[in-house]
Amino acid sequence: MTATAPITLDNITVPRKLETEAKTNLIGLQRDALKAVFANIGIADKQLNMRVNQVWGWMYQKGALTFSEMTNLSKEFRATLTDNCHITRPKIITKQISTDGTRKYLLRIAGGHEVEVVYIPEANRGTLCISSQIGCTLTCPFCHTGTQKLVRNLTAGEIVSQILVARDDLEEWDKPAGDKRSISNIVLMGMGEPLYNTDNVRDAMLIAMDNEGISLSRRRITLSTSGVVPEIIRAGTEIGCMLAISFHATTDEVRDKLVPINRKHKIAELLQACRDYPRLSNSERITFEYVMLKDVNDSDADAHRLVKLIAGIPAKINLIPFNPWPGSPYIRSDWERIEAFADIVNEAGYASPIRTPRGEDIMAACGQLKSATERKRKSAKQIAQDAGL
Ligand code: SAH
Ligand code: SF4
Repeated sequence: MTATAPITLDNITVPRKLETEAKTNLIGLQRDALKAVFANIGIADKQLNMRVNQVWGWMYQKGALTFSEMTNLSKEFRATLTDNCHITRPKIITKQISTDGTRKYLLRIAGGHEVEVVYIPEANRGTLCISSQIGCTLTCPFCHTGTQKLVRNLTAGEIVSQILVARDDLEEWDKPAGDKRSISNIVLMGMGEPLYNTDNVRDAMLIAMDNEGISLSRRRITLSTSGVVPEIIRAGTEIGCMLAISFHATTDEVRDKLVPINRKHKIAELLQACRDYPRLSNSERITFEYVMLKDVNDSDADAHRLVKLIAGIPAKINLIPFNPWPGSPYIRSDWERIEAFADIVNEAGYASPIRTPRGEDIMAACGQLKSATERKRKSAKQIAQDAGL
């Protein structure tokens, strides 16, 4: 075996490092990959499971920032870990707190890129909105993130680190699972399309759900997709989380414009994937997100079409008043219009909550995220043109 040949353990491959290469960051590795790393640094086979469990608990249950805190590990093992590995989290560059308590963190990750994470406190619970990519390859014209071109997928470690950093800031390590926690729910509704980064999102969520660690129930994790149909079922079988669909239009003609992935995967195909989404019970409803854009998708006829389309799917409709951003080519629907739309959906038997915009004053609301370093914004004219207006 050459110095750079990968080593394998239980079919898990980890790259063998050259002396000069950086130490391995353990955050984001599955247990099997951790085992392979530990075997590689000389831990005996019969100790591997125990060592992995110990380090896992320190990282994800206690939120340890260094190996030296891991006091139930032998001095030698801690030294070996320090020599070969690290557990560094991304740094918080800025933290903004909205007048409504919403917190927006800007994190610096490898390569000097920036990721936005939003914490939304509510009565007796709180939701952390995390990102899956830097930027987005899709170009939904009402979305600020869509004006930023994709820089790269986030790694599993960078995705799960968003939770770790928020827990640090909210001082909630070692708290029992459940509603008392500040972060009771996770939504993959930040920057990026999670189902264009399914493997890393899955690995990060498996860590978040692990009972020996962050221990979030799969029912408290919601993944939002614009409609990457071939990956939807995989999200259900491999993660098992709740599903949200950025629906936003009731005809292919309008959806082709608002959610351009619709040109590839039409509404009928998307709804079939929703019907096939594996759910353990009927109480697990699919959320249909619907951004309210004045005179574009907000008529009574749209509301009637919507309920017809989703007939038979256990669903709730989340109406999102459009959140404007500099240069955005749309206007938020009037409040009366949103309520009239909600009433029609509601009368058809679907819950239709209107999402209160949170953190607008710090540009933390849905669709407003975009990292400053990549801010090569198109002109307002260009955005309007691209949107076909
Ligand atoms: N890319 C995924 C995850 C992002 S979720 C997706 O599109 O589903 C962010 C949610 O906010 C999506 O439903 C998105 O369509 C919506 N959104 C984007 N821009 C918005 C805006 N300006 N106002 C309100 N909602 C917006
Ligand atoms: Fe990407 Fe989602 Fe924004 Fe569309 S709405 S551009 S898919 S982040």
